[in-house]
Amino acid sequence: MAEIVPPVRVRFAPSPTGFLHIGGVRTALFNWLFARHYGGQFLLRIEDTDEKRFVPGAADDMMASLRWVGIDWDEGPDIGGPHAPYVQSERKDLGIYQRYADELVANGHAYTCFVTPEQEEHMRAEWAARGERPERFRFRGPEREWSAEQVAEAKAQGLPFTIRLKVPLTGTTSFTDLIRGGERISVNNADLYDLVLLKTTKMPTYHLAHLVDDHLMGITHVIRGEEWVPSAPYHVMLYQAFGWNMPTFAHVPNILRQDGRGKLSKRKDDVSTNRFWERGYLPEAMFNYLALQGWSYDDHTEIMSRAEIVERFSIERVQASPARWNPDKLKDMNGIYIRKLSTSDLAARLLPFLSNAGLIANPPTDGECTYAEQLVPLIHERLEELGEASELLEFFFKDIAAPEPNLLVQKKMDAAGTLAALEAADAELRKLDGWNEGQLEAALRALAETLGLKVGQLFGTLRVAVTGRTVAPPLFATLVALGHERSLARIATAQAVLR
Ligand code: GLU
Repeated sequence: MAEIVPPVRVRFAPSPTGFLHIGGVRTALFNWLFARHYGGQFLLRIEDTDEKRFVPGAADDMMASLRWVGIDWDEGPDIGGPHAPYVQSERKDLGIYQRYADELVANGHAYTCFVTPEQEEHMRAEWAARGERPERFRFRGPEREWSAEQVAEAKAQGLPFTIRLKVPLTGTTSFTDLIRGGERISVNNADLYDLVLLKTTKMPTYHLAHLVDDHLMGITHVIRGEEWVPSAPYHVMLYQAFGWNMPTFAHVPNILRQDGRGKLSKRKDDVSTNRFWERGYLPEAMFNYLALQGWSYDDHTEIMSRAEIVERFSIERVQASPARWNPDKLKDMNGIYIRKLSTSDLAARLLPFLSNAGLIANPPTDGECTYAEQLVPLIHERLEELGEASELLEFFFKDIAAPEPNLLVQKKMDAAGTLAALEAADAELRKLDGWNEGQLEAALRALAETLGLKVGQLFGTLRVAVTGRTVAPPLFATLVALGHERSLARIATAQAVLR
């Protein structure tokens, strides 16, 4: 295994083609952890060379997603840096990629190709018609052997052209991967094709652009998704063609769907990072969970702080086999992190959710903030997503509909008995000279005994009366938080329902 010698420089280089997939955040996180662990730098670069798939606003959205999880960058499109700009279309406008494509043509490692995509398609179809497997079609342009004059002549005619890598016809290309235990991956050059480096629009392809940028930006380790393994031999060839030092590759495993059937997909799975934010995942829980998607510290430690993960992270412990997405486990972990929060911290984090649900103003008033803090202990233990809070707490903020009689009437009771119990409770509660949990509990327990009811029966009826539901936070705390007046008003409504 190659030793990792600082200083390290790594990058995350998303293409702004939509929202940031949670798997992308995981890859960014591994890069970030690697950089922070070794005291190196982490760069963000926007790879917008695919004009057809470009989505306006996506880059900003992706940056917001990364920041949310707590990933920051030392150089990037928004903050600049010594290698600015960090957006490939802007770099293209500076002529950076053209220059390097020309260099490869000049030294015989690339060539100008006038085969249009339609012609290439046609060649592929002919190949298939001869009974060959389409995926084994290895494009080689006839222009590989053209003279400079022939090329100049075709250019003079105004024909559109691309620049392609001139893949050697014999020999092998190999590289090692840090994650696959330094195993050497080799391919026969004959199995590779002449990849486009510069499109007819003069826009570079990913292959040329990322490689030139990684070189110019001094990237030492390329940590990216394993879907890039098949492209890596082309990249090795390009490094050799330029005569540049190669960075070390580390291809991180895919994340499979929960059932193990295929990769997490944008189409089938809930994988937009924003969605987790909207549902009320804590960034620290997400950070912890994502770190474990392909990496582990040992065979049992799961809950770790950011600082612990930075300290413990090692690329050697990133597994080569795929990770498995488990939304239930993530939710569990979120619950664990929520329980670690202080009351006031949780209240502060819940305010935006309560505002969004229309339960409180936006921004909340001081009174609403204080009230939220009073309510937090009632749900703190059971909350697994912050977004669940608005449903759980709704009846504290809004009037409730008159409860269903069948919900009010408990097991082994009838409507008349339930009404009598509510009337008695009403009378007892009005006698109290205070409204705290101790007083309420003492009074209502004594009443159940007097009435010959199980506490569960009396409390069940009262719970439905004041909350409108059978499952709600603890009764006495609920009564206290609702207050004397609202509690009695709701109990009165329940009596009316039964009369
Ligand atoms: N722009 C590429 C992507 O979005 C980056 C791949 C790489 O990290 O080299 O997948």
